[in-house]
Amino acid sequence: MKWINKGHEFDEVGKRFENLKRIYLYGAGLYGKQAADMLRGVGAEFVFVDRAESLQGTIEGIKVILPEELKIIQGQEIIVLTMGAENAGIVLKQLEMEGLKYGSDIYDVHSFLQFYIYIIALYRYGKCIMTDCTVMGTYQCSLKCKYCMAAIPYLQESKQVEYADFKRDVDILFENVDFVLEFGIGGGEMFLCKNLEQYIEYVMKNYSSHIWNCSILTNGTILPNEKVIETLKKYKLNVVVSRYSGVPNWHEKYKKLETLLQEHHIPVSTIDYENWVDMGWTQKQYKKNVGGLFDMCGMQCRIVKNGKLNYCLHGMIANEALYHLDLSEDEFDLCVQQDRKKFKLVEYHLGFLNKGCLEMCHYCNGYVNINQNTIPVAQQMTAEEYVQFHRKGR
Ligand code: SF4
Ligand code: SF4
Repeated sequence: MKWINKGHEFDEVGKRFENLKRIYLYGAGLYGKQAADMLRGVGAEFVFVDRAESLQGTIEGIKVILPEELKIIQGQEIIVLTMGAENAGIVLKQLEMEGLKYGSDIYDVHSFLQFYIYIIALYRYGKCIMTDCTVMGTYQCSLKCKYCMAAIPYLQESKQVEYADFKRDVDILFENVDFVLEFGIGGGEMFLCKNLEQYIEYVMKNYSSHIWNCSILTNGTILPNEKVIETLKKYKLNVVVSRYSGVPNWHEKYKKLETLLQEHHIPVSTIDYENWVDMGWTQKQYKKNVGGLFDMCGMQCRIVKNGKLNYCLHGMIANEALYHLDLSEDEFDLCVQQDRKKFKLVEYHLGFLNKGCLEMCHYCNGYVNINQNTIPVAQQMTAEEYVQFHRKGR
């Protein structure tokens, strides 16, 4: 979307929540817990509503009431339907029959988590929150995925980010953003990051109250050293492994990693992919009129680099690797003081830009939610392809 009324884009929507005092999360299952994690970061008061007798009392310190006990004060309290889709319509019907209205008293969990929660955080609690934000730790990687979403194998120089630069960007991020659900130390391959324990320690020691989870994401091919293992244990961090079964020898390497982490009681899980999508970076084809593509793109990965927030981590790094365009107009400079900065920052996070799309969207097929160009997972460049590309010095 194009910025028209900078700093005031959501004023009308925001008015709806100015007097909000309490939120009822109707359904204490997976969606309820997701919403709860975000609302804790916002500092909002909330209560679970659930019919299950076994859940009555409190869950992780949050009160649980039965649906019969639910009586809301309109204008001051809202209900978010956090149960599965099959039950949401039934409950919505009952609540509407009691005189409550969808869109003012009642919200569904998807629109709430993707939109309204940001408005409530900002207009009611004065906070800027984000689902996912990264500061890069290293650009080095042990794999050479041909269709890497961030085009990492196409970088001319795959360097580690200096610790001082990393710290500076983390500080700048949390000077501006109050809460991040998933904070990522970005890679490349995380376990190639020299002194990774220092990077993790800095984030967790200084900002753990601003983060729900610090993601330790790896491609499963590298073992962390003892210091990293101790730091992961100290901060009770999970390791998430991308399952790249098609990569030669991947299983053997992953087994070693899994065994090591399990020996140290570090929780490990995998992300399984049916397929990947080709973002289109290497085709270098400029497409016109991509405002609609940007508006529908579900890319949630924000990144802070050199004090600037970039909306799209993958586009930003693909530019460093393949395009070398000046993206400054697309970025939000977190170091510049300005009126209603927090409002503008939330608008940027929710997709308001000077031009209505990013420069990199012109070269992109979009994120997985809109991209039909499916390809096999983690297909590797051949040694020849890699050498040929880098010999050309593009
Ligand atoms: S997608 Fe492949 S090349 Fe890209 S960072 Fe992950 S493992 Fe490395
Ligand atoms: S369309 Fe591509 S470049 Fe634009 S935000 Fe989505 S993933 Fe990033």
